[in-house]
Amino acid sequence: MLTVLAVPAFQDNYLWLIHDGRHAAVVDPGDASPIVAALEAHQLSLAAILLTHHHADHVGGVPDLLQRYTVPVFGPRHEGIPQVTQALGEGDRITVPQLGLELDVIDVPGHTRGHIAYYAATQRWVFCGDTLFAGGCGRLFEGTPEQMLASLSKLAALPDETQVFCAHEYTLSNLRFAREVDPQNDVLLTRIEAEQAKRDHNVPTVPSTIGVEKKTNPFLRSKEPAIADLLMQRGHLSSREPIAVFTALRHWKNSYR
Ligand code: ZN
Ligand code: FE
Repeated sequence: MLTVLAVPAFQDNYLWLIHDGRHAAVVDPGDASPIVAALEAHQLSLAAILLTHHHADHVGGVPDLLQRYTVPVFGPRHEGIPQVTQALGEGDRITVPQLGLELDVIDVPGHTRGHIAYYAATQRWVFCGDTLFAGGCGRLFEGTPEQMLASLSKLAALPDETQVFCAHEYTLSNLRFAREVDPQNDVLLTRIEAEQAKRDHNVPTVPSTIGVEKKTNPFLRSKEPAIADLLMQRGHLSSREPIAVFTALRHWKNSYR
């Protein structure tokens, strides 16, 4: 039986440890020490490292982990991460044999140019780094709005029950913005209360699910007339095309406090 453990790091990162009680694979170890501590606490031996993109808060712990463990490093083909031993892109399927874990690779450019996500079809898990967040999406550091919208659409096409393991606890601030742009959405208002209660008890709001994101995440709702109407009223929008709506949302969110 595989489970996923959230290992908090830095201010608001989650490093994900997929394990079966004996072996483990880590997703985006930005820091080695909390991973080493978790492996020792649960008596797990590391079998693989999986990387979604090149940012330091996702790859910074890799050199230290490789000092301690000899394991393959799976990662995106186009991000120039020196420690990657298995370079991946869309359509690749990888296996972590110690865990009986199979993952399909999805190209999700936008946050960075070569960002990838890992989808476990059997478990219905997706590890999407800084692409889709609970209630939001990653900033466009290297890619275009067109790329990010296409990437998010691929993730949105996964089964509704798919659990979304994103890399940051940004949910409450994302949902505050979501309420600003989608104030009539009752599912969103109910979600905000539920997520606030989790944070009040110091419980992660991640993983979310694709189904919940499709109903409440404005960045997956650029075809919603109500969102386009509100952007129009506020003067953020000149066309109702989904790409214009998405671009306006991302732009507004960048400066939203
Ligand atoms: Zn990032
Ligand atoms: Fe990050």
